Order: sequence, then C-alpha cells, then structure tokens
Amino acid sequence: MDPMRMHASTPEQAAIVDSVLDYSRRRMLAKDVPLDKPLAPAELRRLAGRTITDEGLGNNRALAVFEHILAPACLTASHPRYLSFIPTAPTTAAIAFDLVVSASGLYGGSWLEGAGAVHAENEVLSFLAGEFGFPQGAGGVFVQGGTIGNLSALVAARDAAKRRLSEAGKALPSRWKLVCSAEAHSSNKSAAKVMDVDTIAVPAGADGKLHADAVRAALEEHGDAVFAVVATTGSTNFGIIDDIKGIAALKDDFDFWLHIDGAYGLTGILAPEARHQFSGVERADSAIVDPHKWLFAPYDCCALIYRDPETGRRAHTQHAEYLDTLTESDDYSPSDYSIQLTRRPRGLPLWYSLATYGVQAYRDAVSSTLQLTQRIAEEIRHRPGFTLVRDPQLSVVVFERDGWEREDYARWSDGLLDEQFAFVVPSSHGGRPNTRFAIVNPLTTFEDLVQILDTMK
Ligand SMILES: *Cc1c(COP(=O)(O)O)cnc(C)c1O
Repeated sequence: MDPMRMHASTPEQAAIVDSVLDYSRRRMLAKDVPLDKPLAPAELRRLAGRTITDEGLGNNRALAVFEHILAPACLTASHPRYLSFIPTAPTTAAIAFDLVVSASGLYGGSWLEGAGAVHAENEVLSFLAGEFGFPQGAGGVFVQGGTIGNLSALVAARDAAKRRLSEAGKALPSRWKLVCSAEAHSSNKSAAKVMDVDTIAVPAGADGKLHADAVRAALEEHGDAVFAVVATTGSTNFGIIDDIKGIAALKDDFDFWLHIDGAYGLTGILAPEARHQFSGVERADSAIVDPHKWLFAPYDCCALIYRDPETGRRAHTQHAEYLDTLTESDDYSPSDYSIQLTRRPRGLPLWYSLATYGVQAYRDAVSSTLQLTQRIAEEIRHRPGFTLVRDPQLSVVVFERDGWEREDYARWSDGLLDEQFAFVVPSSHGGRPNTRFAIVNPLTTFEDLVQILDTMK
C-alpha cells in the first residue's frame, strides 16, 4: 500500500475533509441539537460492530457509525436544557475555530514553535488577569482543566514556600499542609494526594463559605507548614463564593500563597453587577478559571494565571539536554508554567471568539445567565410545593420538591432524559435529597426551566 495515502492531498482526502466539515457545519448551525443519552456497553458493541479492521471501513461508513450510533450515545453538554454538574456552552466562533487549531499543526508548548499562537493566548490571559485585578505582568498558561490548573498552581506554591523558608534559613516542615474549605472541590484534595501533602479541611460557615477567622485559626495552628490556602469563587454544588476579601486580608499578618479556585465561578467577575462579590481576588498569588464551563469555550480549557509568572516558571521548567534550546532562552514558553510539556494551544478558540465578538458580548452573556438564575430562584421561592435550599450567588439554583425522597428525584430525572427533554440529575445537601439547575448557557430560557418544574408532579 502507498504509505503516503493517509497524508497526501488527494481526492480521497478531499472527500473526507468535505464530509467531516459538512457534518461539523450542520452540527454547529443546528437550531435544535439533540440531548441524546448513554447506552450500555453491550448495546453499543452490538450496534457499532467491529470498527477497527485491517482494511478500514472507509470514510462514509466510519462517519455513519459516529453520526448514527456513537454521537447519539453521548449527552450534548451544551444543550440548553442540560443543567447538571457544570455544563458547557461554547460560542459558535470558538467551536468553529477549534477546527482550525486542529487543522494547522500548531504546537503550543514553546515560543520557538508557536509564537503567534502563544502571543494570542497570552493576550487573553492578560485580559483575564486584568479582570481579576492582578498587576501588569501577570500571566500563565492554558491547561487541560481545573484539576491540572489547581495542581500546577499548588506545586508552584509549595516551591515558593520552600524557597522562602530556605532563604530565611528556616527548617522545612516534615509535612507540608494545604488549607482549604471542607467544601472545596475534590480536585484540590486530589492535588494534595498527588503532591503527598496533608490537607487541612477547614469547616465552612453555616452559609457554606470559608471564613477568614477559620483560616486564621488554621494559619496560627500550622504556621510555616502551610504552603497555600485555597479559596473558591463559586463552589460547584451551590456557586458559593468564599469570604475572599477577609481571607486575602490575612496576608497582612501571615505569609502564605493564596490560590483562587474559580474553575466554574470566576467568570462571574466579568458581569459588572457581580464584580463586588469577588473583591479580594486581586490579592491572590494564582487563580484558575475554566473557559470550558461558563466562559463559552469548547472542552477542554483552563486558564491558569500567576500573579508573578516567574513563580510558575521556577517550579515547572523541565530540564533535559534535548530541551536546552528552549530552556536556555528568555522566551515565554507556556510549558514552563504547568506540569505539562506538549500542548495544543487550547486557548485559541477563546481568543478567536473574544477577538470576534468583543468583551462586551461576554459581559452581556454572563449577566443574562445571572439574571435568569435570579428569576427562576424567585419563581421557586413562591411556587407551592417547592423550597429553595439557598439564595443563589452565581448561576446555580438548588431546590427541593417538598416531600420527595431520593427515589422520586431519580425516577423523575430518568424520565426527563428518556423523553429527551432535559438533563437534571438528583443531588443532595446535608443528607437531604434535592436537585439543581446549573445555568451557563445563554440559550437556556425561563420557559425551559419553568417547564421542567412543571414536570415535578
Ligand atoms: C469543575 C471544577 C474543578 C475541576 O475542573 P476540571 O476542568 O473538571 O478539571 C475544580 N474546581 C471547581 C470549583 C470546579 O467547579
């Protein structure tokens, strides 16, 4: 067989490109995307048959298997009535440009190889850093997701703590400690495990927030062993923002690295009316936000930003003879700022979309989801038979259907998906079952949400 067959520009390749682009075009411009749902492994095996064969299925059959069997067995997380976990809602420009990133052989790990792409990504990171109130010069890197972003920031934090203690001639602690809320996202605890450090889980207040006095007590008790404090701007479950202002003010009395886990909620800072809730973020040493959640970029994308990027570089630059050309230069290479080396420039779809539509369009879209959240919360507050579990701070509404047990929520939720109407899963708080709407999609309407409530009979 011709070894060039799969790569050379030929009529066969043109046909493949045409059909994939045609599929993508239809999907990107569809007015009504299907919600779809998972199938059991045996069912998928039966329907799809064997797809990896010596001769290949050919483009038409392979695409048909995807379009008619595999794709319908994947939930559309960007569906306007997909309201569970944290959904995604990429803009059309961002989705379309994702194709360009794949098409262009772009390597985003180093300046040498990806200068233009890195330049554009860095402009987006600077823009976000400005929104957070970070000083000029703040920057970082787009990584896969919040989990890798949190881990990379915490590794940099520990490296900084080590240097600080060593320079002061102090002994290093036998165990490093990470202070975070007991309500912090699981990825922070998982980062602590990977780093083999202890987690000091500080209880949140009755309002669900991590408060400064509790953090102060932890800092007093554990002293120099604390290498970082993680505060959350928008918990995944409720969208609760910790007392960032109070926690940041502890920097006046203690020397610690403040990391903001804003994977879901830090996007809210773009809405002028919500901005005040994020006061204190400007004093953080690092912060993350996932554009694949509420910042309208496709999976997968996390912006990791250091107040002083040098702290990230010192912790993360990989050294090897074959990398000397890269690491011995002063160029800004994204791979120096996180635990990954090879990377696609995954910030480019967000860059293209921001460049295309402008920042104001983003502010308006974020504001609209905040307003919708308040409106549906008000509806639930006054609706007989419903109880709002908490006043929403951002765009998550948690509520109970009075008298419902776990099984009632489960039966109802399965029914919604079976009917392909909505994806809203059961949740719980303090041992009581409930459900929640996580709203990030500007296409979600008040009527959508009310219709879902109407099904809770
Ligand atoms: C989603 C989320 C994470 C994890 O981010 P991934 O992109 O899923 O890795 C971390 N923290 C918070 C608050 C989140 O909402």
